[in-house]
Amino acid sequence: MRESFIYKGTIPRIVFGAGTITRVADELNNLGRHKALILSTPNQEADARTLANRLGTLCVGVFSGAVMHTPVEVTLQALQVFADTRADCIISLGGGSTIGLGKAIAYKNNADQLVVATTYAGSEVTPILGQTEAGIKTTVRDLSVLPETVVYDPELTYSLPVNMTMTSGLNAIAHAVEGLYAQDRNPISSMMAMDGIAALHRALPAIAGDHQNPAARSDALYGSWLCGVVLGNVGMALHHKMCHTLGGSFDLPHAETHAILLPHTVAYTEATVPHLLEPVAALMGSESAATGLFDFARTIGAPSKLQDLGLTVRDLDKATEIALRNPYWNPRPLETVAIREMLQKAFEGARPRQR
Ligand code: NAD
Repeated sequence: MRESFIYKGTIPRIVFGAGTITRVADELNNLGRHKALILSTPNQEADARTLANRLGTLCVGVFSGAVMHTPVEVTLQALQVFADTRADCIISLGGGSTIGLGKAIAYKNNADQLVVATTYAGSEVTPILGQTEAGIKTTVRDLSVLPETVVYDPELTYSLPVNMTMTSGLNAIAHAVEGLYAQDRNPISSMMAMDGIAALHRALPAIAGDHQNPAARSDALYGSWLCGVVLGNVGMALHHKMCHTLGGSFDLPHAETHAILLPHTVAYTEATVPHLLEPVAALMGSESAATGLFDFARTIGAPSKLQDLGLTVRDLDKATEIALRNPYWNPRPLETVAIREMLQKAFEGARPRQR
């Protein structure tokens, strides 16, 4: 018999395909907006300026100061530029950091957001905003921050460095994997999760061999969209809590932390719900989802050890304590000793045990 479920979709308008960057002007018109402020990181400023030139009078400025973890000081600067230029909407061109800034602006002034997504982090399709103030990262879930339109042009991802491609792809897979055992999972979210994981599982090894492979880049971006929708629609558990803890309290890089931890958090949870992770184990051709994900990450050259990110053994005790303080719901309740052991394995890069 089928499990009971509630399904409520909140999906922005999606424009997907090679060359769709040329459709941004039409999409602004669809929104009824004609004075866009383009956001980017310093790293992608040249791409932001190219888009500004293409848009002509539809663009009133470029703010290229987006940084990771959305510090409020940067948001205040960008809000000032938004007011000074009399912008009527935002175009966020980039990954989760730039999209986070766009969401933070929209949270304050309700501006429409058009996102041109260039990583696989998935923030563009979630109503979630993480911001940092005085060193503390907080998260809000509010529909006002969900972008109106997302343009996915795989050609803009050719320049994403291969190492970042792999960790960002595993970050996307992490959303989908946790979606499979979410308390509020439903048939649509689980279908999207498996299709997203399968697309990335096909695409990432192909990109590792040829970073401008059009079919693989397209597949990876498609997979990341599906995984992002899962993140936005159902609750996350131990894995996201641990990554949030390590990112927020120890300043570890977002995608790399996801990539390293995933097989270990999955091993912890899979012991309780092996049936929900069976499709992942089968897709990876492994005895368990945890070992399959671990081996897959090795074949695509992703990092494997938390110690390589600068964490110390002493930090592991503190991380365990923080993660247990306000735990997210998880299918397997959080047990101090087992969580500490799990972190030790991730620290050393040891292969998780078979179930
Ligand atoms: P990022 O946005 O920080 O990008 C990393 C670097 O890669 C940046 O310098 C960026 O300019 C560059 N880059 C991005 N795309 C590129 C491309 N195609 N070519 C060349 N360079 C490119 O990294 P991210 O992993 O996408 O985002 C991480 C941030 O997003 C974190 O702060 C995380 O908390 C947040 N996030 C939020 C959500 C959410 O739903 N709120 C979801 C996922 C991630």
